[in-house]
Amino acid sequence: MDVSDPTARDLIARDRETVWHPYAPMPAALAPLEVIGAQGTRLRLADGRELVDGMSSWWAAIHGYRHPVLDDALRAQLDAMAHVMFGGLTHRPAVELAELLVDITPGGLDHVFFCDSGSVSVEVAMKMALQYWLGRGRPAKHRLVTVRSGYHGDTLGAMAVCDPETGMHHMFSASLQQQLFAPAPTPRFGETCTAEDLEPLAALLADHREEVAAVILEPVVQGAGGMRFYAPGYLAGVRALCDEHGVLLIADEIATGFGRSGELFGCDHAGVAPDIMCVGKAMTGGYMSMAATLCTPEVAHWVSHAESGALMHGPTFMGNPLGCAVALASIRLLLDGPWQSRVRGIEAGLREGLAAAAGLPNVADVRVLGAIGVIELEQALPMAAMQETFVARGVWLRPFGRLVYAMPPYVASDDDVARIAGAMVAVARDVGPA
Ligand SMILES: *Cc1c(COP(=O)(O)O)cnc(C)c1O
Repeated sequence: MDVSDPTARDLIARDRETVWHPYAPMPAALAPLEVIGAQGTRLRLADGRELVDGMSSWWAAIHGYRHPVLDDALRAQLDAMAHVMFGGLTHRPAVELAELLVDITPGGLDHVFFCDSGSVSVEVAMKMALQYWLGRGRPAKHRLVTVRSGYHGDTLGAMAVCDPETGMHHMFSASLQQQLFAPAPTPRFGETCTAEDLEPLAALLADHREEVAAVILEPVVQGAGGMRFYAPGYLAGVRALCDEHGVLLIADEIATGFGRSGELFGCDHAGVAPDIMCVGKAMTGGYMSMAATLCTPEVAHWVSHAESGALMHGPTFMGNPLGCAVALASIRLLLDGPWQSRVRGIEAGLREGLAAAAGLPNVADVRVLGAIGVIELEQALPMAAMQETFVARGVWLRPFGRLVYAMPPYVASDDDVARIAGAMVAVARDVGPA
């Protein structure tokens, strides 16, 4: 930040006095940078500098910023109505978005519940699973099984299925529902999954099938819980185990959805259809906070036959028309464009650019899948020094723990990707431990 600019200094000082930032103390340990605009892949800072965005604002801004098609969709919807309650009312953007989601998601997911954030869509998925078994007269089936290294959100129900260590939530464990954890999937993406790899999960399900409602996991890519890419064969194995033991499968596609991993959904790598699926993040192209939970007719039927006779959820801003309109525009824009070759191009660029990190003293692993690149460090590095290196190289990235990672907007050019990868390597090479 240019501290000679008094207006900039003032705003940062005011921010630090008043505003919480994600996973931050009050005031934040590291002063935030003021953004005054964003266009394409560029974030414009108050001091005039421009940064290439390597984060897509946490997986969301897949088309970059201020895309004219998305801006127009939002403006057009604003001229009709910004919001209207969803209880007893409906509107075209919601119906068309629901139909489109049903169309593009794996087979059998025919019904859509809209909500306002990814965490809430996970809560809704869990409630669907619990109410499904209530409807079927099996109230004992009320627990969830998941795998380690997962991340499913920040609300209490979602926290209970986050990895207890990497999931940032272990200090709450006394107040969380005690769920069941299998080890993280062992076979990496590209490796084959053996019966042995699935054995711990199989044993857990065999032991607890009478009390397990559902398995919840992130398909193929584990995001904030570890940035791990595992074998699609593992996911196919989980589907088979769920069928064998009579438990539902919930796929949390909030990070993976809409092309990020190279397939439209993570489940598509394995040709697997879950019983319940969560989508969010990139659904609106990063414009609005919106998510959805999809389910099969079988799940919907028994949920509707639970004691309540209804799914017991209904957020105030459910089905927000602005969110629906921009999500529709974003998904259509994605499907109408060469998204798959763009993601492949980013994948190739990240592979090439990150190769230089392999073998550096503090680097434990380098991995790339789709438009996601990860350098896993042996030892975490100080955030301030990393941020300084990134910003000096004109790049915006936000590592956490030992993970330096990027998921650029799909519109990123070869040069953008090279610059992002170069900055990641520079951090791994040049930044010293605290
Ligand atoms: C981000 C994320 C969530 C939570 O979504 P929010 O919109 O932040 O509540 C849940 N699951 C996965 C896999 C995510 O990446």
